[in-house]
Parts: sequence; structure tokens; C-alpha cells
Amino acid sequence: MKNGCSARLSSIIFLNTPLILLFAVKMKFPKTVNRFCPFCRKHTQHKVFTAKKKAPSPLKYGSKIRARRRGRARGSGNLGRYSKPPVTQWKMTGKKQTKKTDLRYQCAVCSKTHTQKKGIRLKKVEFE
Ligand SMILES: [Zn+2]
Repeated sequence: MKNGCSARLSSIIFLNTPLILLFAVKMKFPKTVNRFCPFCRKHTQHKVFTAKKKAPSPLKYGSKIRARRRGRARGSGNLGRYSKPPVTQWKMTGKKQTKKTDLRYQCAVCSKTHTQKKGIRLKKVEFE
């Protein structure tokens, strides 16, 4: 038991250290934070949360429903981007162990939301 533990530790130390420092496994964020609000142009209290995936809207530019109505994503032959399988099938999307955080900050005064500057790689995001 003790030997196994030490072996695991040594393997971690033996690995390239910058690789480990690239991401933390879990990180806790505060639920509320004082930040600059670009709409109020001053520091206000903000609610912190991660972005949730919304249902696709037919009015958005890249929407498949909209493309079909315009006659793009139908018929035979090469339809360009509509001939390709979804991105999740041919790219590494969703396969990675860590994902970049997509934090949103909602101002308590004007209730407008803005995003973070740069995401960091994390396995898990927690709010406390
Ligand atoms: Zn504001």
C-alpha cells in the first residue's frame, strides 16, 4: 500500500512538470465577486456561473433550420459545410479530459452578463 503510493507520487514528479501545471483538477470559485461592469462603468457585485448550452435557435446565422429554409442544406452533390458530419464526429470535441472554463458574470445592478477574458483548463468547476 505504502509502496504503491510512493510509486504514484514519483511518477507524477517524473512527468514533465509544465504539463501538470497546465491545468488543475478542480477549482473553487466564489458565487459572487466584485468586478468592473462595462455597462455601469464601475465596480459592482457580480454573480458568477458557467455558461450553459442553449437550444439551437432557427434565427441564428449558423442554424441548420435556417439553411434548409434557404435551400442550402438539402439536395444532392457537395453542399460544402453541410456535407460534413457534425464537428463532434471528426474533431476532438468532448473527448478531452479537461475543458476550458466559460465563466459568466452577471451584474447585480443592471443584470447584464459579460464573459471572462481567458479560460483556464479545469476538470471540474465548483462554486462556493
Ligand atoms: Zn452593471
